[in-house]
Amino acid sequence: MFGGTFDPLHIGHLRSALEVAEFMALDELRLIPSARPPHRSAPQVSASDRLAMVELAVAGLSPLCVDDRELKRDKPSYSIDTLESLRAELGADDQLFLLLGWDAFCGLPSWHRWTELLEHCHILVLQRPDADSDAPEALRNLLAARSVNDPLSLSGPGGQISFVWQTPLAVSATQIRALLADGKSIRFLVPDAVLAYIHAHGLYRAVN
Ligand code: ATP
Repeated sequence: MFGGTFDPLHIGHLRSALEVAEFMALDELRLIPSARPPHRSAPQVSASDRLAMVELAVAGLSPLCVDDRELKRDKPSYSIDTLESLRAELGADDQLFLLLGWDAFCGLPSWHRWTELLEHCHILVLQRPDADSDAPEALRNLLAARSVNDPLSLSGPGGQISFVWQTPLAVSATQIRALLADGKSIRFLVPDAVLAYIHAHGLYRAVN
């Protein structure tokens, strides 16, 4: 599972997802847009627009697909709830991975019931070139106890942490929103279908 606000989805998300799916030979990689992220300010565009952009981007791009369960839930998007509901649909022995960019991983200690996450899945941390901070103190013991060097050696349904290399793409949704608000082009930072959707719906324009 790869969650995010996807406000909007961009090539950093897509390229990471595709490379991890291929490298790990995943049967499925679900992009899961969050409805009301508990940790950050409200997304700039509606959940339905963010979902539509993810759907356009991954159409025909198996094993990438969209999972809209967090948008159907009438409460904040806690990853532990999403994991529990996914785990309930899978067999107890199925491998499940939670994909997190380094910045998201470093924020784990503030997540709701974060210490339970590894009971349901492995965590794969994605390299993110614009984030070069050290792991916070609260994660050091966990990393020492649970991390493995080779992500391909992760075994069992969950419980371990590993790091995956991808092509570094220092793109962020913040940068894209700023470019659009400034009337600049975001061509090649998002798929063409997402670009067309943003323009057709007049999203992320500066409020004057
Ligand atoms: P914002 O700039 O609004 O914070 P974002 O670009 O970080 O947005 P999110 O939707 O918040 O995008 O991110 C979803 C997940 O994707 C997070 O785990 C994040 O770390 C990861 N991610 C985002 N951009 C990249 C990138 N360029 N490379 C690798 N991982 C990324």
